[in-house]
Amino acid sequence: MRGLSQQVPPPFQVLKDLMAKARGARDNAYAPYSGFPVGAAVLSGDGVVFRACNVENGSYGLSVCAERNAVSMLVVSGRVNPIAIAVAGPPGVPCTPCGACRQVLAEFNPSMSVVLEDGEGGLEVISLEDLFPRPFQLGESRG
Ligand SMILES: [Zn+2]
Repeated sequence: MRGLSQQVPPPFQVLKDLMAKARGARDNAYAPYSGFPVGAAVLSGDGVVFRACNVENGSYGLSVCAERNAVSMLVVSGRVNPIAIAVAGPPGVPCTPCGACRQVLAEFNPSMSVVLEDGEGGLEVISLEDLFPRPFQLGESRG
C-alpha cells in the first residue's frame, strides 16, 4: 500500500457536501452509553456516498464506529474504492477516526481524504497517510 502516489483530494464543495451527509447520518446514531454520536459518509471513486452512524451495544466491546459501518456499506455494494470520508462527531467537536477505523480505512485507500470539523465552524481535510502513516500490513508483518 505504501508508495502509492498521493491522491488529489476531491473539490472542496464535494467534501463540504460529504460532511453535510455525515452530519445527517449522525442524527441516527445509537449512542446511549457514550452519549457521543458520530456520523460518517464515505465517497466512492465512482461518486456514490455511503452513510452510517455509530451503533453501540450494552456489551460495550461490540459497539461499532460510524466510519467502519460506512466502509462496510461501501463493500456490501460491491465497491472497494473509497476516495474520501467525512466524520461528524457531536456538533462543534472535531472528531478524528479512532485507531481501529484508521486501519480499516487504510485497507482500501491509504491516501484517501479525511474530512473533519475544525471546531470553529469550518472543515479540515487531511490525507489518511498523514493521519496514519504506517498501517499494519499482513505480508510485511510476517517478515
Ligand atoms: Zn473508530
